[in-house]
Amino acid sequence: MTESTSEKLVEVAKRRGFFSQTAESYGGVAGFYTFGPEGAELKRNIENLWRDRFNTKEGHREIEAPTIMPEPVFEASGHLETFDDMIIECPECQSSIRADHLVEDNTNIEEAESFPTDKVEQIIEDEDLVCSSCGFELSGIDVNDFNLMFETNIGPGDSNPGYLRPETAQGIFAEFPRFKEYARNQLPFGITQIGKAYRNEISPRKSIIRVREFTQAELEHFIHPHDDEPNLEKVEDVELVLYPATEQQKDEGEYKKMTVNEAVEKNVIESDWVAYYLGVAKRWYSRVGIDMTRFRYRQHLEGERAHYASDCWDAEAEIDGDWIEISGFSDRGCYDLKKHQEHSEESYEIFEQFDEPVTEEKAKIDPDMSWMGPTYGDHASEILEELERMVEEEPQIFERKSELRIEFDEKTFNIPVDKLNFEIVEEEKNGERLLPHVIEPSFGVDRILYAVMDHSFEEDEVDGEERTVLSFETEVAPSLVAVFPLMDKDGMGEKAREVAENLRSKGFETRYDDSGAIGRRYRRQDEIGTPYCVTVDHETLEDGTVTVRDRDSTDQKRVDLEELEKVLERLGEGEISFSDL
Ligand code: AMP
Repeated sequence: MTESTSEKLVEVAKRRGFFSQTAESYGGVAGFYTFGPEGAELKRNIENLWRDRFNTKEGHREIEAPTIMPEPVFEASGHLETFDDMIIECPECQSSIRADHLVEDNTNIEEAESFPTDKVEQIIEDEDLVCSSCGFELSGIDVNDFNLMFETNIGPGDSNPGYLRPETAQGIFAEFPRFKEYARNQLPFGITQIGKAYRNEISPRKSIIRVREFTQAELEHFIHPHDDEPNLEKVEDVELVLYPATEQQKDEGEYKKMTVNEAVEKNVIESDWVAYYLGVAKRWYSRVGIDMTRFRYRQHLEGERAHYASDCWDAEAEIDGDWIEISGFSDRGCYDLKKHQEHSEESYEIFEQFDEPVTEEKAKIDPDMSWMGPTYGDHASEILEELERMVEEEPQIFERKSELRIEFDEKTFNIPVDKLNFEIVEEEKNGERLLPHVIEPSFGVDRILYAVMDHSFEEDEVDGEERTVLSFETEVAPSLVAVFPLMDKDGMGEKAREVAENLRSKGFETRYDDSGAIGRRYRRQDEIGTPYCVTVDHETLEDGTVTVRDRDSTDQKRVDLEELEKVLERLGEGEISFSDL
């Protein structure tokens, strides 16, 4: 059987120090991976390019919140109640299986994740689906909700439960009262965070694509509910491949290829802000090395989308024939801030100062308390509170009716409006309180790293020998350059070590290798995706030149050592290409 790219990639990843399963010496633990030196460097490079694009270029600021948060935060966010996946447990072999994946993997249904548990149960029965481990028939077995959060105790005892954050976003939302002050109550502003998130996945799979601990890069862009507009001009010409919900529902649904501008004008993407970030992110994905012929934006289907989100798109990369979600972009309205405001003791609103004060009509009551008190006794203050609410929310009924009906404790009170001194007054306002809306681009770094490796993975033949190459963009490659002596004799070893040392002192990520035949050393660097190899040979000792070999074409050029640093810098920054040398 021929190996799939994923199998080959995972093997190279392990052998060459990109990533491997954690604690393998102890039998391994599902859903946890350790990044070795090459993987950790690659990941840092991707994260730093994300910072460059989403912090520096957008003007947003990055924060760092704890990974453990107390229970009330997740009560407010809704994770405690609804952050569930569907689980079915095999009574024969006791395997826990993700029920919606069982359906998606064994039928033509693609969106089982958005179905309720009873519908998934029914499909398992109708389709005679069996346990993926032992083949036991699962018809009639309950499908249940399983909360994905890891629980712990904060401090000794169990009186203060805490949870490992299932997304980095809540660390931003919970702290909004601080950040709005930091931003001097001025919208719009963006807060970002790159950090670990934890989900107790029922069945982790596909190496680092579905794990229990992973890294997210999230941006929460707080905007005025109506007044703030994105600068669409910056991305208007970016070409997008879109897979709208309407197309997904057709038998032969098609991708829609159009610019950001067209997508906004034709209302294919409803939110201008989401469209803006789809444009920005598309360019960024291309920069880090995602193959744009294997990339699409897919709109969430109705059942998939959170009820509060008005528009939601996923960036998806094709990996071994499957489309994998690598990021999500959504317009979350004021949902998150509203929830935290309701559950906490602080205000999450922004006070928006108007340029000029405005005069507004306001309905008011000023009840005669010397009459209310004796008339309603213990209920007077509750009735007053209710009347205050009514005059704010439905002032017109005070004009229409002569009596207002209020019910408390199964008692009915009919309040005569003429005792309330209802009037419409003109008030001058200097500003107003409002809950900002949130636009959230949320990136999964591990999946992006995997997709970058998969889309850079190539096999070809050089001098009759097969080779594997990770053709990373120079900006993400773990090392830019490797230095070799042709042989470690006649002073070539010393010279090569000196060249490597010098490049390191200038900040180039540089590898040094003097073991084995030169061809094998090239192969090793090809496999970790090092774009350039510098070889010190006899000629170097005579005329001060070295060979520089290009990973992708395997071409070699001689370069003066004095020029080497400048040449590598320009190659690394994409100012020149190898063929220009
Ligand atoms: P979500 O909050 O579920 O939309 O997740 C945001 C991003 O995190 C996704 O687009 C994925 O790239 C990533 N992600 C979610 N779950 C996992 C997981 N179990 N393992 C690795 N990455 C994940």
